[in-house]
Amino acid sequence: MGRVVVRLDLGSMRLESDPSFKFRCVENCGKCCCELDIPLTDEDVERIEELGYSAWEFVDYDKAFYRGDEFLGYALKKRPFDDCCVFLDPETKRCRIYDHRPLACRLYPFVFIRDGRFLEVSIRDEKECPGVGAPDGDQMSLRFLLDNYGDVIADCRRKWKKGG
Ligand code: SF4
Ligand code: SF4
Repeated sequence: MGRVVVRLDLGSMRLESDPSFKFRCVENCGKCCCELDIPLTDEDVERIEELGYSAWEFVDYDKAFYRGDEFLGYALKKRPFDDCCVFLDPETKRCRIYDHRPLACRLYPFVFIRDGRFLEVSIRDEKECPGVGAPDGDQMSLRFLLDNYGDVIADCRRKWKKGG
């Protein structure tokens, strides 16, 4: 697992973070949209279908993700001419469904792992993402986390409170 940059207590919401770490997604980068295979959750598929797309247009049924024997989901489709995601505008390098993009796209380059009442955020592929260490980037404050991943944190808190 990569470098841990945040450890959040889901009970007190106190956070320990690496003060030297900064992140900001680089505009028009699109690197992760071409170089990664993106898993889709059922909620991702439903949300994107609500925009008017049919699943066959954006789900790659030949590529599936598993954790052990457990099926996690199919992959987001890539287009043949540049191997980038079908939603990446080839000219502007912007995501055409940005506000509705899959959870995995929102989380990258971070990995969220809950261990009991603590949530650890670490960096995946530290050297691959040019937004990691961006001098004008955001520090990992509670505000940053809640603004960008409030739903993920709320879900982790719910599961922790239920004892899951
Ligand atoms: S998350 Fe990183 S690799 Fe992906 S578009 Fe932003 S800067 Fe580029
Ligand atoms: S859905 Fe958007 S953010 Fe996700 S890989 Fe495709 S273009 Fe990139």
